[in-house]
Amino acid sequence: MADTAPSDLVVAAARLVRATPGAGVLSPGYVVVSGGRVAEAGPGPPPRPADVELSRGVLVPGFVDLQVNGYYGEELATAGPAGWAAVAGRLPETGTTAFLPTFITAPAGRLAAALRAAATLLPGLPRGARVLGVHAEGPFISPLRTGAHNAAWITDPEPAAIDELLRAGSGVLRLVTLAPERDGAIAAITRLTEAKVLVSVGHTDATAAQVAAAADAGARMVTHLYNAQRPMHHREPGVPGQALTDPRLTSGLIADLRHVSAPMCRLAFAAAPGRICLVTDAAACAGMPPGRYLLGGQPVTLPDGDRAAPVRRDGTLAGSALRMDAAVANMVAAGVGLADAVAAASRVPADLIGRADLGRIAPGAAADLVWLDDGLRAQATWVDGDLVYPPDAAH
Ligand code: ZN
Repeated sequence: MADTAPSDLVVAAARLVRATPGAGVLSPGYVVVSGGRVAEAGPGPPPRPADVELSRGVLVPGFVDLQVNGYYGEELATAGPAGWAAVAGRLPETGTTAFLPTFITAPAGRLAAALRAAATLLPGLPRGARVLGVHAEGPFISPLRTGAHNAAWITDPEPAAIDELLRAGSGVLRLVTLAPERDGAIAAITRLTEAKVLVSVGHTDATAAQVAAAADAGARMVTHLYNAQRPMHHREPGVPGQALTDPRLTSGLIADLRHVSAPMCRLAFAAAPGRICLVTDAAACAGMPPGRYLLGGQPVTLPDGDRAAPVRRDGTLAGSALRMDAAVANMVAAGVGLADAVAAASRVPADLIGRADLGRIAPGAAADLVWLDDGLRAQATWVDGDLVYPPDAAH
């Protein structure tokens, strides 16, 4: 019936990455969108005249970012409706069409209040990137691996604390990063997993065996591989060693080439094909000029220069100023294949949080699409088949 059904949009693309397993890069390819969903996608020219002809660059699925602390001057943990609307409205400029606002370690009461506020904000957000829920990064993390988190606010994941988090985050809490070696952490992982909240191992001094125990209890992710965790050693594999060799675990990777070197990024993709998801870990300074901003309520400075990353006063990296399209470009420059780099920014994170309707250009999936130019910079972005960036462009 597809060839007789009315279609909302037909796109012809010089190159197309569908990001389904093994699909590679089509050159050329096409997408037919109907009712905001992908109706067809495949190689060659489209079955009928295209509404949009992309004669250069590459069309890819909208990116899914599981770790966004803030962007465009706004810190999501404390921003009001206007701040959330600004971030969700503008993230498509970077190719991101779905994301998890991320709240780092805060006093329990403040974290709970931020979660409750998020639940009330979500229904009123304007068209833009989808908010898929909230990622609570902390406060159940290791005092030895705090990174930019405030050590005064970290605590054990006692049952009452987990209950409060689940109550406050009811309906919005999607992902919790915790250190599995903390007292009560294994029970907390079990409880969160039963509540359908994804657990990620991060900001942790866990041994490989402790990471494996976390996976036994239900953890399925490792937060920003290599950063703020016990490193890999050939006799104690540490967190990266377990993350890369345990098929149950998918690792977030901050691919700004500042947090992690290019060879270590390549190593991750080689060791764990299909189990690396790119995250920006963007802070309020992302998309903004150099200057002073906040992360977790603490001051950070974004220096001048290409690939600059925000730092605390003591020089600790504090989130990033990364764009997701740049993360993909960085991985391609590091030697990762284009289709694999795109999948790491789209299908892999979508699958990880149980959204098989996102992050791929496949029949039935939401028509969230990004046209990247030959330098892999986002030029146009669609959400549900509607052009959201640039707002009123004709191609
Ligand atoms: Zn972190």
